[in-house]
Amino acid sequence: MKTEFKTYTVEEICDGFEYNELEGKGLYGLAGQLTIQPEYQRNYIYADGKRDVAVIDSVLKGYPLGLIYFNKVEEGRLEVLDGQQRITSLGRFLKNKFAVKINDLEQIFDGLNDGMQQKILQTKLLVYICEGEGEHAEEEIKEWFKTINIVGIPLNHQEELNAVFSGPFVTACKAEFSNSQNANIQRWESYVKGPANRQQFLATALEWVSKGNVDGYMSAHRRDDNINEIKTYFNTVIDWVDSKFDDVYDEMQGLNWGELYERFHNQAYNHSELSAKVYQLMHDDFVTNRRGIFEYVLGGCQDTKLLNIRLFDKPTMRKVYQQQTDKAKAENVSNCPYCAIGHDANRQRIWKLEEMDADHVTAWSKGGSTDISNCQMLCKTHNRAKGNR
Ligand SMILES: [Zn+2]
Repeated sequence: MKTEFKTYTVEEICDGFEYNELEGKGLYGLAGQLTIQPEYQRNYIYADGKRDVAVIDSVLKGYPLGLIYFNKVEEGRLEVLDGQQRITSLGRFLKNKFAVKINDLEQIFDGLNDGMQQKILQTKLLVYICEGEGEHAEEEIKEWFKTINIVGIPLNHQEELNAVFSGPFVTACKAEFSNSQNANIQRWESYVKGPANRQQFLATALEWVSKGNVDGYMSAHRRDDNINEIKTYFNTVIDWVDSKFDDVYDEMQGLNWGELYERFHNQAYNHSELSAKVYQLMHDDFVTNRRGIFEYVLGGCQDTKLLNIRLFDKPTMRKVYQQQTDKAKAENVSNCPYCAIGHDANRQRIWKLEEMDADHVTAWSKGGSTDISNCQMLCKTHNRAKGNR
C-alpha cells in the first residue's frame, strides 16, 4: 500500500460539497474528485446541534481536527476512509445548514464577517492518502481501515465525545478515569462497570457530575486543565455508597449511584439495619429484581415496585377466581370482595377472570407470602387502588 501525506484547506475539500438530506449523507468534495461517504461508511451522525457545532467551534478556536484518511480509488478519484463526519459538518456549515453560537448569537456561515469566514475556509486539514496496489487493492484498503478504526471496534459514545471535545479537560480526565493503572479502579469496579480503557468510568463520572447533561458539561469545561470538581464528586458518591452498605454485591455494579446519592445522601440511616435489610432481601425468593433492592431500602422500604415481587401463577389465580365466583354467585354479590361491599352498580357484578388481578391479602412488604392462602382476586380498579396505598 502506498501512502502520501497532503494538506488541503477546508475550502478545497468542501469545493462542490453536496448534502443528501434524504439519505443523511455528505456526497462530494474537492471539485467532484472526492466521494465523502462511500457505501461501506456509516451515515453522517454529527447532525445533532452538538457534535457538528463542536467541529466548527474547534476550527474557529484553532484546535486541530485530527488526521483524515482518503483512499485513492483511481487517478483523480478519492474516497474518505476516515473523517467523513468532520468533513460533512464543515460542508454543511458552509451551506448554512446549521448555526453556531458566536458571542452569544446563533450565526450561520453567510452571516459571519469576512475574517471569520476566511479563517474557516483557510483552515488546513491533514490528510493521508492511501492507495492499494494490485487486484486486491480494495480489500487491502478496507482491511487497513478496520485497523485504524481500533481493530474493527467502532468508537463508543464516550470515545466519540472525547474526540469531539478533545482538549486539556479530556486529557486530564483520561489520566484519572481511563488509566488502568489507577489504584482506585478495584474499588470503583464494585459499583461502576468498566473497563477503563473504553472510557466507562469516565462516562459514569461525567454522567453523575453533570446530572445527565454530559455533552453540555464537557463543552463547558473543555479548556479547563483541572478536574477537581468531577474527581471530587465521583469520589464523594463512591465513598457514600461504600459507607452505607457493609457487603458488596454484584448487583450493585452499574447502578445510577449518582442519582441515588443526590436523592438520599442527606438522610440518616441505621447502618446495621440497612445492611441487614439488604441481606434479607437478597435472600428472599419473591424478589425478582435484586438490583432494585438498594434504592428500595434507601427510600425507606416503600416502593415495592422496585423489587418486582414474584406474582401469583396462573393456576393459583384460576383456582382462587373459581372459589370466589362460586361463593359470590350463591350470595348474589360481586365476585370482587371490594365491589361487593360498595354501594354502586358493581355491587353484584360478576367479573370475568381477565377483568381481575391477583392481590396479596397481606402485603408482601408486611410478610405476606405469594401462595394461594394469601391470594385474592380483585377487579382491576380495586386492585390498582389497593396497590397505590
Ligand atoms: Zn372491585
